[in-house]
Amino acid sequence: MSPMHLPCPRCHSRLRTVAHGDVVVDHCPGCGGTFLDSGEAAATMGVPAEPTSWINTGASQWQGRTAMRCPRDGYPLHAFVVHDRKRAVEVDVCEHCNALWLDRDECRLLGEIALVAGQDRSRFTDGEESNFGTVRGYVFRLLTGLPGEVWNPTHRRPVVNWSLLGVLVLAFVAQIWAAIAHMEGTLDPDAWTPYHGLWLVPEQVWSLEHVQTLVTHALLHGGIAHLAANLYFLWLFGDNVEDHLGRLRYLALFTAAALAGGLLHTVVPGDPSVPLVGASGGIAGVMGAYLVIFPRIRLRVVWLFIPLRLPAVVFMGVWVLLQVLLMLTPETMISWQAHIGGFVAGLVLARLWRRPPITGLQLAPASIGERAP
Ligand SMILES: [Zn+2]
Ligand SMILES: [Zn+2]
Repeated sequence: MSPMHLPCPRCHSRLRTVAHGDVVVDHCPGCGGTFLDSGEAAATMGVPAEPTSWINTGASQWQGRTAMRCPRDGYPLHAFVVHDRKRAVEVDVCEHCNALWLDRDECRLLGEIALVAGQDRSRFTDGEESNFGTVRGYVFRLLTGLPGEVWNPTHRRPVVNWSLLGVLVLAFVAQIWAAIAHMEGTLDPDAWTPYHGLWLVPEQVWSLEHVQTLVTHALLHGGIAHLAANLYFLWLFGDNVEDHLGRLRYLALFTAAALAGGLLHTVVPGDPSVPLVGASGGIAGVMGAYLVIFPRIRLRVVWLFIPLRLPAVVFMGVWVLLQVLLMLTPETMISWQAHIGGFVAGLVLARLWRRPPITGLQLAPASIGERAP
C-alpha cells in the first residue's frame, strides 16, 4: 500500500517498507521508529492499539501538538500518553488521518498497554460501561457458570472459527439422524453403527485400527449440553486466537490440539474399551493459545453469586487445577487426557506462532523490504 520513501517525522531519514506478517509498514532506518497508517496498528498489534480505540477515553491523555509532521499528509502530529494502571507509553498521532508514529521503544508496549487499559471498562468508557457487565450478563454467568470477556476486540472476521462452529453443529445433526435411523433399523447394524470409525476407542487405535479417530472423535458429542458448552468456549476464545495467529495457523492449531488430546487419551486411557467423543481437546488447545497470547485479558465470571473479573491466566490456571482433580477422580466420564493433551499442544504452538511485537530490530538488512520489482 505505502509508496516508498516517506520522510521520517523524527529524523528526516527516508522510511523503508518492512513486512510485518501480512502487513507492510514504514520503518525508519535512522532512528528505529515506525509509521503506521490507519488500520495498520490493529493489523500488527491488535485492535486495542489503534488510535481510534483509545483516543478520547480515560486510557489516554493529550500532551499537545508536536513539531513533527505526518509523513502521509503533512498535518502536525499530536503526542498522547496511553496508560494502564502501572505503565505508560507516549505515542504520536495524526488527528487528520489517524496514522500513528511510534519511536523505537514504544512499539513493544502500546498494544499491550491499550489492551490492559481496556479491561478497566468504567475508566475506559468514562463510566458508561460497568466493569462487571450488564445484569443480563450476570444472570447468564450465574446460571451457566460460563465466563465472558471484558474486552477483546478482533480485527478480522473469524471465518475459520465460524466454520468450525458450523461443522460441529452439522456433525451433531448428522449424529442424531444416524442414531434415529439406527434405532428404526434402517441402517444395517452389522455394517455400520452411527459412530463406527469416528469415535476414538483406545484399544482399537493400539491395534492400528481406525487411526483417523485420533482426530475425528472431535466431530462427535455426547449430548446437547456437551455440544453447547464446547460451542460456547470455542466461540468465546477462538475468534481472538484466529485473529492473532491467522486463519491457516488457527485451523492447524485446532486440529493438532484435537490430535494431541486423542493421542494422550490413547496412551493413558481410563478404560481402553470406552470410546472418546468431543471437540474439547481442540478447544482446550484454543484455551492454551489464548493464555499465551492474551494472559492479561479479564474474564467475567460469577462464583458463589459474586461477580469477578479474573485475568485469563488465573482462569486458565483454575481450569488446569480442575483437570488435575479429574485425574485423581476414579471412573470419571470426562477425559482430562484429551483436555491436557490439547491444552499443552495449544500452548506450544501459540508460543511458536504468536506475532512478534514490531521492534527496531526488524531493520536487520535481510528483512528490509526492497520488494521484488
Ligand atoms: Zn527516523
Ligand atoms: Zn496524517
